[in-house]
Amino acid sequence: MTSQRTRDRLINRLQEQGIHNEQVLDVMRRVPRHLFVDEALAHRAYEDTALPIGYGQTISQPFIVAYMTQLLLEDGVGNSVLEIGTGCGYQTAVLASIFPQVYSVERIEALHQQAKKRLAELELYNVQLRHTDGIEGWPNPSYRFDRIIMTAACSEIPEALVAQLSEGGIMVLPIDNGADQTMTKVTRSPDGLICDELEKVIFVPLLPGLG
Ligand code: SAH
Repeated sequence: MTSQRTRDRLINRLQEQGIHNEQVLDVMRRVPRHLFVDEALAHRAYEDTALPIGYGQTISQPFIVAYMTQLLLEDGVGNSVLEIGTGCGYQTAVLASIFPQVYSVERIEALHQQAKKRLAELELYNVQLRHTDGIEGWPNPSYRFDRIIMTAACSEIPEALVAQLSEGGIMVLPIDNGADQTMTKVTRSPDGLICDELEKVIFVPLLPGLG
């Protein structure tokens, strides 16, 4: 159930659903998603579905990982990317296989520790992880990122993240208006923020403080 054939079937499905970026497809064919979930769920790792990862959280559906990564790459690759919500670390591993420098923060200590171990086992050394509240962005406020991705839904774009987005940078995040959630692409232009509202999505909420 974790064979290359099973993985290829998932990649074909992603293509049928509109994922066309070859780099994203290639990386998702290679990164072993089954190593990021509990052994008891490994046989379902290449289904296009979210799965529980404990602590009331989920590993994002492969389509969503591919879709968000593809959005981040629409205007070139950029050097650094900040992820809010490391979770099990699968999206982090996909990003680390594409971007030169990846930074990711998680509020639940146990998930942060597990992700750290898994990413080290996969020898993805271009990743820096922190156990911290992502609403405040990366703990060093002077850092600027070319791309920011948030894997939990919030009601408005956190100001600290806007401040850490480079000029010309892109941020992709689900925004919750109380009724539903919309994937939103934010571009920081010299004249201000440009917000494109995209698909309706379902994410766990961004929570304040440490878990
Ligand atoms: N990309 C992850 C998604 C996990 S779900 C994966 O595929 O595994 C979203 C994650 O965001 C959860 O792990 C949750 O604990 C985390 N999260 C929620 N609010 C947060 C916050 N304020 N700061 C950092 N992480 C947060």
